[in-house]
Amino acid sequence: MGKYVIAGNWKMNKTPAEATELISAIKPLVADATCDVIVGVPFVDLQAALDATKGTKIGVAAQNCYWEKSGAFTGEIAADMLRVMGVGYVILGHSERRTFFGDTDATVAKRVRGALDAGLTVILCVGEYLEQRELGITGEVVAMQTKIALNGVSEEELARVIIAYEPVWAIGTGKTATAEQANEVCALIRNVLTDLYNETAAKAVTIQYGGSMNAANAAELLAMSDVDGGLIGGASLKPNDFATIVAAAK
Ligand code: PEP
Repeated sequence: MGKYVIAGNWKMNKTPAEATELISAIKPLVADATCDVIVGVPFVDLQAALDATKGTKIGVAAQNCYWEKSGAFTGEIAADMLRVMGVGYVILGHSERRTFFGDTDATVAKRVRGALDAGLTVILCVGEYLEQRELGITGEVVAMQTKIALNGVSEEELARVIIAYEPVWAIGTGKTATAEQANEVCALIRNVLTDLYNETAAKAVTIQYGGSMNAANAAELLAMSDVDGGLIGGASLKPNDFATIVAAAK
C-alpha cells in the first residue's frame, strides 16, 4: 500500500532547547529506518527541529497552519511561512484542534487547501468519537471527514497527503483500537479514496493509525494490510519507544 511513515505528534510539549535534546536522542536510534520518520513539533520549536534534523532523513512537521497567505489574523501562522522556513509537513484536523479550538470539517478543508498550495505535505487526521462508534456510524463519519477535507484536491496533489485515522477515544487514553478495528477503518478510507480518485492513487496514499500506539502494540498494528504507519503522541516523546515503533514499520 502506501509507503510507511511514522510521525511523532509532540503536541504542546518541549521548549526549543528540549526539542534539540530530544531529536539528538532520537537521531541515532532511527538512523537505519526503512520508513519515513517525521517529528511534529510546536511552532516555536520548528527552527530548532530543522537545525537538529539537518543532514538526516527526519522530516519536520508543524501542528497546524492557516489558509490565508498574510494579513490581519492575529496569532495565526500561514502555510507559506512554514514552507519558507523549510518545514515539509503539517498536521491538520487533529481531534484536539477540532475539539478544543473550533476546527470543523470546513476549516480543515481550507487549511488543507492552503497547505497544499504552499507546497507542504499534509498529515490529515480523521476519526470518530466514542459515541459515534457506539452508534455504528464510524464509517460515515470518517468518510465524510475525508471527502470534505479532500474536496478540490487533485490526484497529483493527493501524493502530498497522508491520512491519519485516529479514533478520538484512543488518543491519549491508553485505549488502543484493536488491529482489526484500525485496519477496517484504514481500508474504508482507502475505498473512499478509490471512489474519489482511482485504485492506483488510493493504494499509493499512506494511511496511518494513531491512538495510543506504543512500543508494545506497534508491530501488530503496523502489520495490518491497510495500516501504513502511525501518528504517535505520547510515545513520540520517549526516544527508545519511538525508535521501537519506527523499527516495527517495515
Ligand atoms: C496523537 O496525538 O495524534 C496521538 C495519537 O496521541 P497518543 O499516541 O498519545 O494517543
